[in-house]
Amino acid sequence: MGATYSSQELYDGLVGSGLIIPVGVPGIFGRNAVFEDVLRRFDDHVSRVAKDDGAEKMLFPPTLDRKVFEKSEFLDSFPQLAGTIFSFSGKEKEHAELSSRVHAGESWGHLQTMTDLVLTPAACYPVYPSFTGTVPEAGRLVDMQNWVFRNEPSTEPTRMQAFRVREFVRVGPPDVVVAWRNMWLERGVTIMRSLGLPAKSEVANDPFFGRGGRMLAATQREQQLKFEVTIPVISEEKPTAVCSFNWHQDHFGKIFDIKTADGKLANTACLGFGMERVCMALFKHHGFDPKTWPAAVREKLWP
Ligand code: ZN
Repeated sequence: MGATYSSQELYDGLVGSGLIIPVGVPGIFGRNAVFEDVLRRFDDHVSRVAKDDGAEKMLFPPTLDRKVFEKSEFLDSFPQLAGTIFSFSGKEKEHAELSSRVHAGESWGHLQTMTDLVLTPAACYPVYPSFTGTVPEAGRLVDMQNWVFRNEPSTEPTRMQAFRVREFVRVGPPDVVVAWRNMWLERGVTIMRSLGLPAKSEVANDPFFGRGGRMLAATQREQQLKFEVTIPVISEEKPTAVCSFNWHQDHFGKIFDIKTADGKLANTACLGFGMERVCMALFKHHGFDPKTWPAAVREKLWP
Protein backbone atom coordinates (compact mmCIF):
# COMPACT_ATOMS: atom_id res chain seq x y z
CA MET A 1 0.00 0.00 0.00
CA GLY A 2 2.93 2.38 0.62
CA ALA A 3 3.08 5.28 3.01
CA THR A 4 0.78 7.73 1.25
CA TYR A 5 -2.53 8.38 2.94
CA SER A 6 -5.86 9.15 1.34
CA SER A 7 -9.35 8.65 2.71
CA GLN A 8 -10.83 8.20 -0.78
CA GLU A 9 -8.16 5.73 -1.89
CA LEU A 10 -8.65 3.59 1.19
CA TYR A 11 -12.42 3.62 0.72
CA ASP A 12 -12.13 2.74 -2.97
CA GLY A 13 -9.65 -0.03 -2.14
CA LEU A 14 -11.85 -1.53 0.56
CA VAL A 15 -14.88 -1.44 -1.75
CA GLY A 16 -12.91 -2.59 -4.80
CA SER A 17 -11.53 -5.63 -3.02
CA GLY A 18 -15.02 -6.50 -1.72
CA LEU A 19 -14.05 -6.05 1.94
CA ILE A 20 -16.82 -3.54 2.54
CA ILE A 21 -20.16 -3.34 0.74
CA PRO A 22 -21.76 0.12 0.34
CA VAL A 23 -25.48 0.33 1.19
CA GLY A 24 -26.21 3.91 0.12
CA VAL A 25 -25.94 5.73 3.45
CA PRO A 26 -22.53 7.24 4.32
CA GLY A 27 -20.88 5.57 7.30
CA ILE A 28 -22.90 2.35 6.92
CA PHE A 29 -21.69 -0.66 4.96
CA GLY A 30 -21.61 -4.44 4.92
CA ARG A 31 -18.48 -6.49 5.62
CA ASN A 32 -17.46 -9.58 3.65
CA ALA A 33 -16.12 -12.89 5.02
CA VAL A 34 -12.46 -11.82 4.78
CA PHE A 35 -13.15 -8.62 6.72
CA GLU A 36 -15.09 -10.56 9.36
CA ASP A 37 -12.37 -13.18 9.67
CA VAL A 38 -9.75 -10.50 10.36
CA LEU A 39 -12.08 -8.87 12.90
CA ARG A 40 -12.69 -12.18 14.72
CA ARG A 41 -8.99 -13.09 14.64
CA PHE A 42 -8.09 -9.76 16.21
CA ASP A 43 -10.84 -10.25 18.79
CA ASP A 44 -9.37 -13.69 19.66
CA HIS A 45 -5.90 -12.17 19.87
CA VAL A 46 -7.13 -9.63 22.45
CA SER A 47 -8.76 -12.50 24.38
CA ARG A 48 -5.46 -14.38 24.48
CA VAL A 49 -3.59 -11.31 25.77
CA ALA A 50 -6.23 -10.72 28.47
CA LYS A 51 -6.92 -14.35 29.37
CA ASP A 52 -5.46 -14.21 32.91
CA ASP A 53 -7.19 -10.95 33.89
CA GLY A 54 -10.24 -12.73 35.29
CA ALA A 55 -12.85 -10.63 33.48
CA GLU A 56 -16.57 -11.49 33.63
CA LYS A 57 -17.96 -11.76 30.12
CA MET A 58 -21.24 -9.96 29.31
CA LEU A 59 -23.11 -9.33 26.09
CA PHE A 60 -25.87 -6.78 25.57
CA PRO A 61 -27.96 -6.01 22.48
CA PRO A 62 -27.19 -2.76 20.59
CA THR A 63 -30.03 -0.98 22.40
CA LEU A 64 -30.04 0.83 25.72
CA ASP A 65 -32.82 1.53 28.23
CA ARG A 66 -33.79 5.17 27.53
CA LYS A 67 -33.92 5.88 31.30
CA VAL A 68 -30.28 4.73 31.66
CA PHE A 69 -29.38 6.87 28.65
CA GLU A 70 -31.10 9.92 30.18
CA LYS A 71 -29.29 9.39 33.50
CA SER A 72 -25.92 8.96 31.77
CA GLU A 73 -25.95 12.66 30.72
CA PHE A 74 -24.94 11.71 27.16
CA LEU A 75 -27.39 14.29 25.76
CA ASP A 76 -25.72 17.05 27.78
CA SER A 77 -22.40 16.36 26.08
CA PHE A 78 -23.13 14.79 22.67
CA PRO A 79 -26.71 15.55 21.55
CA GLN A 80 -25.55 15.50 17.92
CA LEU A 81 -24.41 11.86 18.06
CA ALA A 82 -27.35 10.16 19.75
CA GLY A 83 -29.83 7.87 18.01
CA THR A 84 -33.23 7.57 19.66
CA ILE A 85 -35.65 4.81 18.65
CA PHE A 86 -39.14 5.89 17.59
CA SER A 87 -41.97 3.62 16.47
CA PHE A 88 -45.62 3.68 15.45
CA SER A 89 -48.20 3.64 18.22
CA GLY A 90 -51.28 5.03 16.42
CA LYS A 91 -54.61 3.50 15.41
CA GLU A 92 -56.14 2.61 12.00
CA LYS A 93 -56.63 6.23 11.00
CA GLU A 94 -53.01 7.20 11.68
CA HIS A 95 -51.84 4.02 9.98
CA ALA A 96 -53.68 4.96 6.80
CA GLU A 97 -52.05 8.37 6.92
CA LEU A 98 -48.62 6.81 7.56
CA SER A 99 -48.93 4.45 4.58
CA SER A 100 -50.14 7.09 2.18
CA ARG A 101 -47.46 9.58 3.26
CA VAL A 102 -44.66 6.99 2.87
CA HIS A 103 -45.90 5.98 -0.58
CA ALA A 104 -46.24 9.64 -1.62
CA GLY A 105 -42.69 10.39 -0.47
CA GLU A 106 -43.97 12.84 2.17
CA SER A 107 -42.64 13.31 5.69
CA TRP A 108 -44.00 10.85 8.27
CA GLY A 109 -41.83 11.50 11.33
CA HIS A 110 -44.71 13.14 13.23
CA LEU A 111 -46.59 9.80 13.16
CA GLN A 112 -43.86 8.13 15.23
CA THR A 113 -43.52 8.25 19.00
CA MET A 114 -40.51 7.74 21.24
CA THR A 115 -39.98 4.20 22.57
CA ASP A 116 -38.24 3.17 25.79
CA LEU A 117 -35.03 2.47 23.84
CA VAL A 118 -32.12 4.31 22.28
CA LEU A 119 -29.32 2.86 20.16
CA THR A 120 -26.27 2.13 22.30
CA PRO A 121 -24.13 5.31 22.14
CA ALA A 122 -21.06 3.72 23.81
CA ALA A 123 -20.40 0.00 24.19
CA CYS A 124 -20.06 0.10 27.98
CA TYR A 125 -23.23 2.02 28.90
CA PRO A 126 -25.50 -1.02 29.44
CA VAL A 127 -23.21 -2.41 32.16
CA TYR A 128 -23.17 0.42 34.72
CA PRO A 129 -26.66 -0.11 36.19
CA SER A 130 -25.64 -3.72 36.93
CA PHE A 131 -22.89 -2.41 39.28
CA THR A 132 -25.37 -0.63 41.59
CA GLY A 133 -24.59 -1.49 45.22
CA THR A 134 -21.23 -2.38 46.79
CA VAL A 135 -18.57 -3.94 44.59
CA PRO A 136 -16.06 -6.47 46.06
CA GLU A 137 -12.85 -5.09 47.61
CA ALA A 138 -10.82 -5.83 44.46
CA GLY A 139 -13.54 -4.24 42.31
CA ARG A 140 -14.93 -5.86 39.17
CA LEU A 141 -13.77 -6.28 35.59
CA VAL A 142 -16.17 -6.86 32.68
CA ASP A 143 -15.33 -7.90 29.12
CA MET A 144 -17.94 -7.03 26.48
CA GLN A 145 -18.48 -6.38 22.81
CA ASN A 146 -21.26 -4.27 21.36
CA TRP A 147 -22.45 -2.43 18.29
CA VAL A 148 -22.35 1.32 18.78
CA PHE A 149 -24.37 3.95 16.91
CA ARG A 150 -23.17 7.51 16.22
CA ASN A 151 -25.11 9.96 14.10
CA GLU A 152 -22.17 11.25 12.09
CA PRO A 153 -22.58 10.40 8.39
CA SER A 154 -19.22 10.65 6.63
CA THR A 155 -17.59 9.37 3.46
CA GLU A 156 -14.39 8.86 5.44
CA PRO A 157 -14.22 5.04 5.87
CA THR A 158 -12.98 5.02 9.49
CA ARG A 159 -15.81 7.32 10.60
CA MET A 160 -18.75 4.94 10.78
CA GLN A 161 -22.30 5.38 12.03
CA ALA A 162 -22.44 1.78 13.28
CA PHE A 163 -19.42 -0.21 14.42
CA ARG A 164 -18.29 -2.78 16.96
CA VAL A 165 -16.27 -2.09 20.07
CA ARG A 166 -14.50 -4.73 22.18
CA GLU A 167 -14.56 -3.17 25.57
CA PHE A 168 -13.24 -3.82 29.06
CA VAL A 169 -14.74 -2.00 32.04
CA ARG A 170 -13.11 -1.72 35.47
CA VAL A 171 -14.90 -0.58 38.62
CA GLY A 172 -13.33 -0.08 42.06
CA PRO A 173 -11.29 2.39 44.12
CA PRO A 174 -9.61 5.19 42.10
CA ASP A 175 -6.01 3.90 42.48
CA VAL A 176 -7.01 0.40 41.29
CA VAL A 177 -8.90 1.78 38.30
CA VAL A 178 -6.12 4.17 37.23
CA ALA A 179 -3.38 1.52 37.58
CA TRP A 180 -5.49 -0.82 35.43
CA ARG A 181 -6.02 1.89 32.81
CA ASN A 182 -2.28 2.63 32.69
CA MET A 183 -1.42 -1.07 32.34
CA TRP A 184 -3.82 -1.39 29.39
CA LEU A 185 -2.55 1.79 27.74
CA GLU A 186 0.88 0.18 27.46
CA ARG A 187 -0.66 -3.14 26.47
CA GLY A 188 -2.78 -1.51 23.75
CA VAL A 189 0.29 0.02 22.09
CA THR A 190 2.17 -3.31 22.38
CA ILE A 191 -0.71 -5.25 20.79
CA MET A 192 -0.82 -2.90 17.79
CA ARG A 193 2.95 -2.78 17.31
CA SER A 194 3.12 -6.58 17.50
CA LEU A 195 0.79 -6.56 14.48
CA GLY A 196 3.21 -4.37 12.53
CA LEU A 197 1.19 -1.17 13.04
CA PRO A 198 2.95 2.13 13.89
CA ALA A 199 0.88 2.85 17.02
CA LYS A 200 1.39 5.47 19.68
CA SER A 201 -0.63 6.65 22.67
CA GLU A 202 -1.73 10.21 23.30
CA VAL A 203 -3.94 12.33 25.52
CA ALA A 204 -7.30 12.96 23.83
CA ASN A 205 -10.71 14.58 24.30
CA ASP A 206 -14.27 13.77 23.33
CA PRO A 207 -16.21 15.82 20.70
CA PHE A 208 -18.29 17.73 23.28
CA PHE A 209 -21.09 19.83 21.76
CA GLY A 210 -21.13 23.61 21.51
CA ARG A 211 -19.20 26.41 23.13
CA GLY A 212 -19.44 24.90 26.63
CA GLY A 213 -18.04 21.74 25.14
CA ARG A 214 -14.70 23.38 24.44
CA MET A 215 -14.22 23.93 28.18
CA LEU A 216 -15.17 20.34 28.95
CA ALA A 217 -12.70 19.10 26.35
CA ALA A 218 -9.91 21.26 27.81
CA THR A 219 -10.60 19.98 31.35
CA GLN A 220 -10.69 16.40 30.08
CA ARG A 221 -7.23 16.81 28.54
CA GLU A 222 -5.83 18.65 31.56
CA GLN A 223 -6.92 15.87 33.92
CA GLN A 224 -5.75 13.19 31.45
CA LEU A 225 -9.12 11.44 31.62
CA LYS A 226 -8.97 10.23 28.02
CA PHE A 227 -6.17 8.56 26.09
CA GLU A 228 -6.15 7.02 22.65
CA VAL A 229 -3.92 4.59 20.82
CA THR A 230 -3.63 5.98 17.31
CA ILE A 231 -2.35 4.68 13.97
CA PRO A 232 -2.06 6.59 10.68
CA VAL A 233 -4.80 5.11 8.46
CA ILE A 234 -6.15 7.93 6.29
CA SER A 235 -3.70 10.64 7.36
CA GLU A 236 -0.19 10.86 8.78
CA GLU A 237 -0.83 14.13 10.64
CA LYS A 238 -4.20 13.06 12.04
CA PRO A 239 -3.79 9.39 12.94
CA THR A 240 -6.93 7.34 13.62
CA ALA A 241 -7.87 6.31 17.16
CA VAL A 242 -8.16 2.52 17.24
CA CYS A 243 -8.43 2.17 21.00
CA SER A 244 -9.84 4.64 23.49
CA PHE A 245 -9.25 4.73 27.26
CA ASN A 246 -11.65 6.65 29.47
CA TRP A 247 -11.41 7.28 33.19
CA HIS A 248 -14.85 8.49 34.33
CA GLN A 249 -13.75 9.14 37.93
CA ASP A 250 -16.94 8.79 40.05
CA HIS A 251 -19.34 9.93 37.27
CA PHE A 252 -21.08 6.56 36.93
CA GLY A 253 -20.52 5.75 40.64
CA LYS A 254 -22.68 8.78 41.50
CA ILE A 255 -25.34 8.22 38.84
CA PHE A 256 -25.83 4.51 39.51
CA ASP A 257 -24.99 4.47 43.24
CA ILE A 258 -21.93 2.22 43.00
CA LYS A 259 -19.86 1.94 46.20
CA THR A 260 -16.50 0.42 47.03
CA ALA A 261 -16.06 -1.99 49.97
CA ASP A 262 -15.11 0.93 52.28
CA GLY A 263 -18.36 2.78 51.48
CA LYS A 264 -16.92 5.42 49.14
CA LEU A 265 -18.17 6.21 45.63
CA ALA A 266 -16.61 3.81 43.13
CA ASN A 267 -14.54 4.96 40.16
CA THR A 268 -14.90 3.43 36.72
CA ALA A 269 -12.73 3.31 33.62
CA CYS A 270 -13.14 1.59 30.28
CA LEU A 271 -11.12 0.86 27.21
CA GLY A 272 -12.51 -0.03 23.85
CA PHE A 273 -10.97 -1.32 20.62
CA GLY A 274 -12.74 0.04 17.54
CA MET A 275 -12.85 -3.31 15.78
CA GLU A 276 -13.50 -2.11 12.24
CA ARG A 277 -10.84 0.58 12.59
CA VAL A 278 -8.26 -2.00 13.66
CA CYS A 279 -9.16 -4.08 10.58
CA MET A 280 -8.84 -1.01 8.32
CA ALA A 281 -5.44 -0.18 9.86
CA LEU A 282 -4.30 -3.74 9.09
CA PHE A 283 -5.61 -3.54 5.50
CA LYS A 284 -4.00 -0.11 5.02
CA HIS A 285 -0.56 -1.17 6.27
CA HIS A 286 -0.40 -4.79 5.07
CA GLY A 287 -2.62 -4.83 1.98
CA PHE A 288 -6.16 -5.91 1.16
CA ASP A 289 -5.33 -9.63 0.99
CA PRO A 290 -4.49 -11.11 4.43
CA LYS A 291 -2.80 -14.10 2.75
CA THR A 292 0.01 -11.77 1.67
CA TRP A 293 0.53 -10.17 5.11
CA PRO A 294 3.94 -10.49 6.83
CA ALA A 295 4.44 -13.90 8.47
CA ALA A 296 4.98 -12.33 11.92
CA VAL A 297 1.55 -10.66 11.72
CA ARG A 298 -0.19 -13.78 10.41
CA GLU A 299 1.31 -15.88 13.21
CA LYS A 300 -0.25 -13.56 15.78
CA LEU A 301 -3.73 -13.58 14.19
CA TRP A 302 -3.81 -17.12 12.78
CA PRO A 303 -1.76 -18.99 15.44
ZN1 ZN B 1 -16.70 2.76 27.57
